[in-house]
Amino acid sequence: MKIALKEIILGIGLALLVFFARQGFEITPFILIGAVVLLLKFTMDNRTNNRFTLVEQKGVGVSAIPDVDFADIGGQEVAKREFKEALDFIRLDKEVRNLGIRPLKGILLAGPPGTGKTLMAKAAAGYTDSVLIAAAGSQFVEMYAGVGAQRVRQLFNKAYAEAEKANKQTAIVLIDEIDVLGAKRGKNISHMEYDQTLNELLTQIDGIKVNQQVRVLVVGATNRVDLLDPALLRPGRFDRIVRVDLPDKQGRLQILRIHAKGKPLALDVDLEQIAQATFGFSGAHLESIVNEAAIYALRHKRREITNRDFKEALEKVMLGERLNRNPSGEERLRIAYHETGHAMLSEKINKGSVASVTIISRGNALGYMRQHGQDDQYLYTKAELLARIQVCMAGAVAEELVFGERSTGAVSDIEQAAEIARKIVFAGLSDLGVVTSDLPSGVLVRTITQIIKEQETQVYDYLAENQGKLHVLAQKLLEQERLSGVQFRQIMQKSA
Ligand code: ATP
Repeated sequence: MKIALKEIILGIGLALLVFFARQGFEITPFILIGAVVLLLKFTMDNRTNNRFTLVEQKGVGVSAIPDVDFADIGGQEVAKREFKEALDFIRLDKEVRNLGIRPLKGILLAGPPGTGKTLMAKAAAGYTDSVLIAAAGSQFVEMYAGVGAQRVRQLFNKAYAEAEKANKQTAIVLIDEIDVLGAKRGKNISHMEYDQTLNELLTQIDGIKVNQQVRVLVVGATNRVDLLDPALLRPGRFDRIVRVDLPDKQGRLQILRIHAKGKPLALDVDLEQIAQATFGFSGAHLESIVNEAAIYALRHKRREITNRDFKEALEKVMLGERLNRNPSGEERLRIAYHETGHAMLSEKINKGSVASVTIISRGNALGYMRQHGQDDQYLYTKAELLARIQVCMAGAVAEELVFGERSTGAVSDIEQAAEIARKIVFAGLSDLGVVTSDLPSGVLVRTITQIIKEQETQVYDYLAENQGKLHVLAQKLLEQERLSGVQFRQIMQKSA
C-alpha cells in the first residue's frame, strides 16, 4: 500500500513538472530540490537500516556472536530464575493461549553496568528459540522530529521480518539503555521528538497480539528504572522487572571460573581469593581481570597465567595502566609518606589488612595502598565508617605532620571521606540524629566537615606517637617503590 502511494505521488509530481515545462515555466530549481530530497532520504534510510543488529542464533546462519546459554552467566541466580519464569510464558504459548492469559510483552532488566543484562537477553533468545534484534536507546535519538519514531517502527518491522525469514515464532527485541528513549515524557529539552519516539514504542508494544504469526517480546535494559516514564511500566507493557545486581562472592567466583575456563592457570592461582578481593566488581570487571592476567602472562612470555599476573591485572582494573610518570625526588618522598600514612592506619584498625603499598603511578594515582578484600559487607556501623574515614585521611595527615602542609594529592581521599561522612549523616548516625533529604546544605556541609576533622585529629595523634615507624616505613617504600603487605607488617613490627 505504502509503495503504491509513493508511486502515485511521484507520478503526479512528474506530470506536474511536464505540464509546467510545456507552459514555459523554469523547472530546473524544482528538479534540483527534488534530487536533494531524494538523496537525503536515501542516506537516512540506509543509516537506519544498518542500525539494528541481528544477533544470530544457533542454526540460523553463521554467528559472529557466540551462543550464550544461561549456564554461561555466573551468579545472578535469583535474576536468572525470575527471568526464566517470565520467559516460560513464551515457551508455554499454547497453554497460555488456552487459558486466555494476556501475552507477556515486555521484561525490564534493571541493574548496574556490566552485570550481564545483555548476556541474559542473548540467553533468552536461545531459551525461547527466538531471533534476537538488538538496539541501543541512543540509536533513536535524533534532532529531527519523527526520525526516532520511524526507527522504532523499523526496529519492530525488522524483528517480524527476521523471525519469519528464520522460520521462528518469536522475536526478542533488546533495547539497551532504554532510559534514553523511555525517559519521563516532557522532561527533555527537545521533548517533542523524544515524546514521539516513546509514543511510537508504546504503540508498537500495545500492537503485539497473541494470535500474531510472529510474537515479539521486548527486553529493555537500564541502570535507571527511576527515569522511565510510568506509561512504560504499566501492566501490559514492561510489567516484569528483573533486578540484575552486582554479584556476591559466590557469584564472582562463578564468573571468574567461567572466564578462566580453557585458560592455562598456574597452580598458585586461587580464584577464590580473587573473588574475595573483588567486592563491588561487576561481571564485566571480572572478565577484564582474567583477560588482563592472560595479557600479562603473554608479555612475560609465560605459558601459564600465574598469581602475579592476576595481582597485576587486579590493580590495573582497579586503578588503570601503570604509567611512566616521573615525579621529582621531593614529590616521591611526599607520596611515600602519604601512602605509608594510609597503610599504617589501615593496619592499626584492621591488622593484616594491607595487601600492598606502592609509589608507582597507575591511572590517576601517583601511588596507592591496596587492602585485602574483606567478606562482602552490606551494613556498616558508625565505628566502622569512622575508621574508614581515618584510613582515607591518613595520607594527607602524614604529609602535614612531616612537611608542615598538605598537597593536592589528597583530593580523591577527601571526596571518599566526605561521601562516607554523608552516609553517616543520612543514616541518622551523626549528632544531628535522624535527618531527611531536605536537610539545609549549610548544616550538611558543617556536619561533614566536623566529622572528618574529629577523625583527622585522632589520626594525627596516632601518627605523631608513631613517627619513628612512619619515617622507617616511608624510607623503605621510597627505596623499594613497592612493599607487599607482609613486608610492610614486618618492618612496622620491627621499627620503634
Ligand atoms: P551495560 O548495562 O553496560 O550494557 P550489561 O549489564 O548489559 O552492561 P553485559 O554486556 O551483559 O553487561 O556484560 C558485559 C560482559 O561482562 C559480558 O560480555 C561478559 O563477558 C561479562 N559478564 C558480565 N556479567 C557476567 C556474568 N554474570 N557472568 C559471566 N560474564 C559476565
